[in-house]
Amino acid sequence: MVRNFPPEFVVRVDREACINCLRCVRECPFGVHEYDREKKLWKRHHEKCVACLRCAYMCPVQAISIERSPMEYAPHPVWTNRVRKDIKTQAETGAVILTAMGNELPYVSYFDRLVLDACQVTNPSIDPLREPMELRTYIGRKPEKVELEEDNGVRLKTKIAPNLKLETPIMFAHMSYGSISIEAHLSMARAAKEVGTYMGTGEGGMHVELYPYADHIITQVASGRFAVHEEYLKRGAAIEIKIGQGAKPGIGGHLPGKKVTEEISRTRMIPEGSDAISPAPHHDIYSIEDLARLIYALKEATRYKKPVFVKIAAVHNVAPIAVGIIRAGADAVVIDGFRAGTGAAPQVHRDHHGIPIEAAIASVDRRLREEGIRHWGSIIASGGIRSSADVAKAIALGADAVYIGTAALIALGCTVCKKCYTGKCAWGIATQDPELRKRLDPEEGARRAANLLRAWSHELKEILGALGLNSIESLRSNRDRLRGVGLTEPELRVLGVKPAGE
Ligand code: SF4
Ligand code: SF4
Repeated sequence: MVRNFPPEFVVRVDREACINCLRCVRECPFGVHEYDREKKLWKRHHEKCVACLRCAYMCPVQAISIERSPMEYAPHPVWTNRVRKDIKTQAETGAVILTAMGNELPYVSYFDRLVLDACQVTNPSIDPLREPMELRTYIGRKPEKVELEEDNGVRLKTKIAPNLKLETPIMFAHMSYGSISIEAHLSMARAAKEVGTYMGTGEGGMHVELYPYADHIITQVASGRFAVHEEYLKRGAAIEIKIGQGAKPGIGGHLPGKKVTEEISRTRMIPEGSDAISPAPHHDIYSIEDLARLIYALKEATRYKKPVFVKIAAVHNVAPIAVGIIRAGADAVVIDGFRAGTGAAPQVHRDHHGIPIEAAIASVDRRLREEGIRHWGSIIASGGIRSSADVAKAIALGADAVYIGTAALIALGCTVCKKCYTGKCAWGIATQDPELRKRLDPEEGARRAANLLRAWSHELKEILGALGLNSIESLRSNRDRLRGVGLTEPELRVLGVKPAGE
């Protein structure tokens, strides 16, 4: 049967401008550009183009442009082009559709329906360039009250649980070595150290090249337990137990054996070339009591010096789950919303499971406060944080800090082409191919990732100043400084915000 769906993109080359340097042939890992030297003929495989734009940017004479294909099926509001293409693909392959990055369906973005307040007349705003503005945040359990002792000066009597000190409430999300390159990891680790924040290892262990940055790295313990040993746990600044992730709640992960190179096998502590499978559940966790046992086993292994976080996907009953996690002894609960990115996920899971992060943050914060245990643990929000405004709104809804994943990768050069699972990332990020990896210089990557954090931090200070606040702490759970635009009564109730004008 003839393949009858049109390519998504069309590659156009200005033949007048082209100097036949063949750079596009070398640059495109997907094989879009083909040149027959004998016949001196060009062939462009439009159907292979993923619009990563690598060739267009690298062409020395800017002769290439990539456009959306004008050829589409007859329009239909229900049987959209995407629906028809998916059905045809599955009829052809009989397989699950794999994809990457975050949810693509047009759900409401609550961040875009929330607006921040600003000072006028009676409540003066603050100029962050002239007055001190505090972005420092501590992640972890806080004491009920602080007791001081006077004995040759004042001494803190209360024992404080280990906390992470963040100079800005933004961290780099967990993305495993294996799903992304060591160059991408190094870029984020260096940026995190430079700015005074943290990055996550993801479930793939910590590569030896990251050791110099280990005090700014959070290690992860996932269901596959790759690389988990005492030294690994002790080396990082904190430990995160991954129960779920926003892009694929309720399912596990799979790094195919062909991607498990010698270095990855050494870091993950699994045989080279073997499939790295993370089961959907942890096979030793079937209750909150089981989770508590793992939390305390990790604390015990690290002599109670490292905070332990637990990450879950934002799902329907996220508030009681988060309360259980905090009561089980976690120092922070990480909530990953349904717009979170991933290197590989079945499209059906990515697009149809989970709930928006905005609703999850507000529900968890409110429930922890109602139970009087908000200070027992921090809330870290992730999944679709795109700007400093999203950070400020997440904090106003109740988060202590956020993780950024896709935004960090975009800073490193990612163009969100959604082909990470192929291992052919044209920008050297989601790949282990030695030639492709050379395209990402960790030094330049670190500069760009640190710049992004600095720029957002600067904007956060400006936002705080406009709100008349001088510390990020004062914004946390301050839902009164938010208003909803175009939201229904139940949505406003869940978010805990008033409608604009009230
Ligand atoms: S990179 Fe540009 S100039 Fe070189 S062959 Fe390709 S289209 Fe022509
Ligand atoms: S990391 Fe690379 S492969 Fe993945 S979406 Fe970004 S550019 Fe594409």
